[in-house]
Amino acid sequence: MLSGKAMDTIRACRFCWMCRHLCPVGLVTGREANTPRAKALLLDMEQKGRELMGEYAEDMFQCCLCGACASSCETGYEPPVFIREARRNIASGGLAPREISDVIGDHLKAGDAPGAAAVREVRSAGAAGTADTLFFRGARLSEKNREMADAFGEILEKAGVSYLMFEEEPADGNELFDLIGETAEVKRTAVRCAEAINGSGAERVVVLNPSSARMFRQEYPAWGLELSAEVVTATVFAAELLKSGKVKAERADMEGPVTFHDPCRLARDLDETEAARDIIAAMGCELREMIQSRKITKCCGGTVLASHSPRLAEQTASGRRADADRIGAGSILTACPGCLSVLRGGSGTAEVKDIFVFLNERIRCSE
Ligand code: SF4
Ligand code: SF4
Repeated sequence: MLSGKAMDTIRACRFCWMCRHLCPVGLVTGREANTPRAKALLLDMEQKGRELMGEYAEDMFQCCLCGACASSCETGYEPPVFIREARRNIASGGLAPREISDVIGDHLKAGDAPGAAAVREVRSAGAAGTADTLFFRGARLSEKNREMADAFGEILEKAGVSYLMFEEEPADGNELFDLIGETAEVKRTAVRCAEAINGSGAERVVVLNPSSARMFRQEYPAWGLELSAEVVTATVFAAELLKSGKVKAERADMEGPVTFHDPCRLARDLDETEAARDIIAAMGCELREMIQSRKITKCCGGTVLASHSPRLAEQTASGRRADADRIGAGSILTACPGCLSVLRGGSGTAEVKDIFVFLNERIRCSE
């Protein structure tokens, strides 16, 4: 069963090609099946009685749910709505290819892990009072990219911000949501995570992974889950520390201009594009923009695609890195642990760097 919204979108997209030039997956594969139109057409045919689901199961997962198609749709349709629902049906029907069902199984296990929400406090030198800031790293990603989480923690300490951390961070459900859509399993994971965050007593939660921040700000409230803490992205928080003078950045000596890869969730879903640029400006870097930047950013492929289709994610990341090489950037900075690892898996000349590691290396504390 597909929802009325999904069916309306399918009917609109099945004979429309207007956004195909923006699909980062379709652009690198050149495959018709990787356009929103083809996915809509297949689902429409199935609704009309053709048994196709097993045949197109893999194609339905060859999409990073980046929302580029939706953001450029003049009529306001959102293909990710029907793609998520189709994935849910494929997974619940046991039709997902082995490598995809294995990844889904891993995330289901992570979501069902017994709540180990013990909180510890990291005291920063000179800080007074008890910590009211929870630093949420996005546990699965930080295992792959501890450098970004560690650097951000050091920035907080240099700024004199004491903070709380989960000893074992609960899964927030963002990857599972992309894999199987709005299901009871995803909501159960979200409930556990919301209860853990609310139980920490924090007044604000600073979130490293933009996909987690998107879940907390948009999906959780839509599912009736309210967080008692204010949700702030790590990028905005770091930019505010610089603006308030709590930390200062030394000028970076760079070989060539830098470019910023806007993570889709941060730029498109959360509408946060300027904080990263403020951080880059504070380090005195020459910023050169890629054509697809800010809200029209091009996805690097994303960690979910990389987890079950690594070759396709590598191609998609290489497509994005080619954009940076085309404008002569010496480095690509990004502010998402997932984008960092996926971009590094692609090929290109410009070096891929994490904005928080880069900033942390250049910070000196204020008097
Ligand atoms: S999202 Fe909009 S532009 Fe893209 S295929 Fe659907 S109707 Fe056309
Ligand atoms: S969400 Fe992104 S990857 Fe998926 S069809 Fe749309 S543009 Fe392509």
